[in-house]
Amino acid sequence: MKKISEILQQDNFSRNDIVALLKSEGKEKQLLFEKSHETKQRFVENKVYFRGLIEFSNICRKDCLYCGIRNSNKEVLRYDLTDEEIIDAARFAYENRYGSVVLQSGEITSPNFTERINRLLDQIMKLSNNNLRVTLSCGEQTYETYEKWFNHGATRYLLRIETSNKNLYYKLHPENAAHSFEKRISCLESLKKIGYQVGTGVMIGLPFQTSENLADDLIWMQNIEVDMVGMGPYLEHEQTPLFAYRDQLLPLQTRFDLSLKMIAVLRIMMKNINIAAATAMQAIDKLGREKAIKVGANVIMPNITPGTYRDNYKLYENKPCTDEEREDCKTCLEMRIALTSNDIAYDEWGDSQHFILRKES
Ligand code: SAM
Repeated sequence: MKKISEILQQDNFSRNDIVALLKSEGKEKQLLFEKSHETKQRFVENKVYFRGLIEFSNICRKDCLYCGIRNSNKEVLRYDLTDEEIIDAARFAYENRYGSVVLQSGEITSPNFTERINRLLDQIMKLSNNNLRVTLSCGEQTYETYEKWFNHGATRYLLRIETSNKNLYYKLHPENAAHSFEKRISCLESLKKIGYQVGTGVMIGLPFQTSENLADDLIWMQNIEVDMVGMGPYLEHEQTPLFAYRDQLLPLQTRFDLSLKMIAVLRIMMKNINIAAATAMQAIDKLGREKAIKVGANVIMPNITPGTYRDNYKLYENKPCTDEEREDCKTCLEMRIALTSNDIAYDEWGDSQHFILRKES
């Protein structure tokens, strides 16, 4: 067995090396965190970019077995923000110098939806004089739809693969026309071809998931040359089928720790990408996102969805900040980030350095 200190001196990690890093504890784990912290400072500086998150609709055609807003959950109150509410939230982000917003929703696929996003993008570009970057996270769509949205000003797209292991994928998603592993992969390929900054990610601590699966996820991200990653712990939701496996889960604190290690290893492997400190980290540990920033994350997504709707975008239990308004969220984050000795990059787009270099080459 190689020592962690030896592994951390290498330029490349094998699958076994990554598994060893994910299993590291005590002093060895600290070595990993020190190295990832250093790598972050060197390659993306001590900066945190804000992306104002607008969870504009929880209507979803999909039935992911882990997700609280899955189509079959009839206990969720469905909502869809008005265009005015979405534009108002984008204006808040712009006026508060966030540099960028994320429009996220359940998965809706229709010509009307495509056109609606086109219109919203036009309005956001207009209100900000093209100075607000927009990330979309609206699930799987056709190549033509992604292309239209790109032409209307969206430059980044987030589509988590959830797990890069096909067998595990089908334990988390019913195998039918609405849930295809190949389709998800081909969407990521389309997004890259069109010219988006492409973001993906996985859930950590899923039932049936092994450390080897997680190591493969990181290697897969490196192989597809992703520009942005958002990954965090899987958290159970009582109104979902996967809840039946809650007894097989790692304890919450272990899932949290594993998520920190995943971020740290990825930062060392992909030095100049953007990595988000997922909100789910904070559901386990009050300082979860700050801890993620310390070990390598450089993006935070303050929730700017109008407070009245937040309670209904519950992907998992104990989702934090559902009772806050966006002004409170901003003040709270400013205080928290000050604790990490990072600067908030106000007025900066914070494009992925990895993407910029990829485009130049
Ligand atoms: N519909 C879009 C899509 O499919 O990418 C975006 C919305 S979806 C609700 C956003 C992300 O929430 C998913 O990619 C998934 O990783 C995460 N999520 C859903 N349920 C979760 C859970 N129980 N624990 C942790 N993350 C969860």
